Amino acid sequence: MENLTQKEKNYLLSTIRDVKDFPKPGIIFKDITTLLNNKDAFNFLMSHLAKVYKDKNIDFIAGIESRGFIFGAALAAKINIPFVPIRKPKKLPYITISQKYSLEYGFDEIEIHIDAFSGVKNAKVLLIDDLIATGGTAKAAVELINQTNAKCIEACFLINLKDFGGAKKVAETTKIYSVLEV
Ligand code: AMP
Repeated sequence: MENLTQKEKNYLLSTIRDVKDFPKPGIIFKDITTLLNNKDAFNFLMSHLAKVYKDKNIDFIAGIESRGFIFGAALAAKINIPFVPIRKPKKLPYITISQKYSLEYGFDEIEIHIDAFSGVKNAKVLLIDDLIATGGTAKAAVELINQTNAKCIEACFLINLKDFGGAKKVAETTKIYSVLEV
């Protein structure tokens, strides 16, 4: 797999904006809209991900709503494989299966269409999201994919917020690649 140099990682990091106290006090939000708005940085990132994943025999890319859709769909089109959205409850119109997961207070839920991977037997799926923190969302997404006829063989994140420990947790169930560690 092609590795980015520290200089290349610093370049990508410099295009991501930190927004303090969003959506609530104490959180530093990693705003990737500034990366998307920089055509060279976005193109560089997507070319890197295409090199990493083009020969890995992946059957589908699944992206987590909503920023996982941006990177996941762009990569799927670039390496010519189908894209599957994993969405918040009651957004998908056809029959769905769902997975609940705990948040700091209460729980959340994600859904996928029941036939999302039905075109391929034992489909190999790459999961994509922009960022992993506690790993709750990604772990639920891996479980959701594995409840279908498919298997999540790897999860890819643009940013891993290491201090939250989520990547280590999710690494117990699938392989992980994070482009940037913060
Ligand atoms: P988690 O389930 O804790 O790993 O949170 C991951 C999800 O929340 C991803 O979909 C991220 O887009 C979003 N998220 C969590 N923390 C941040 C942050 N500091 N900046 C931007 N997005 C975040």
